[in-house]
Amino acid sequence: MSEMLTIALSKGRILQDTLPLLAQAGIELAEDPEKSRKLVLETSRDDVRIVVVRATDVPTYVQYGGADVGVSGKDVLMEFGGDLYEPLDLRIARCRMMVAGEPGANERPGRLRVATKFVNITRRYFAEQGRQVEVIKLYGSMELAPLVGMADLIVDLVDTGNTLRANGLVPLEHIADISSRLIVNKAAMKTKHRRIKALIADLERAVAQRA
Ligand code: AMP
Repeated sequence: MSEMLTIALSKGRILQDTLPLLAQAGIELAEDPEKSRKLVLETSRDDVRIVVVRATDVPTYVQYGGADVGVSGKDVLMEFGGDLYEPLDLRIARCRMMVAGEPGANERPGRLRVATKFVNITRRYFAEQGRQVEVIKLYGSMELAPLVGMADLIVDLVDTGNTLRANGLVPLEHIADISSRLIVNKAAMKTKHRRIKALIADLERAVAQRA
């Protein structure tokens, strides 16, 4: 039997959108991962297993060799800033990273307060423009911060814009287009080169067929 290939995925959107791509690459799950409490899932292939971790932990597992490859949102990768290969845009879970707030809030005078869970991305974005801001770290429901006067702006992912609209906020500045990426551990890319190359090629075909 050939050596095990370990793929790190996170539950929810990424798992739901990645499973059909993996199926086209001949990798299918034996059980429903959303229902199972198991963290290591066997697949239809003896030499491929899937580990289910938190979305923000996927790059960590891949960088430190807990998994050979993984699927991670570009937002998570930008925030993580680690040392990984990112060979393929899977074109799933697409959205935009935006600065948002009440209309005109980004033109207020003085040092603005920005609430976000993406503190690194936010610091970098405003620093690159020479704009002084105070970044407030939140873990969720960023839209609330401007409503209660805690922040002028938020930095968050926007898909339909419904969440912003429902809270009287508008998108103000575009930071990046986001989608999920295949990521690969640098050492594994060498030691398991043939297998990982084949997986990339299979997934590339599956992505092209979906487009
Ligand atoms: P929407 O109301 O459709 O604009 O969606 C915005 C909400 O869904 C925000 O709270 C985002 O954090 C979340 N969201 C939207 N798209 C994504 C995505 N591709 N990945 C993760 N979270 C997302």
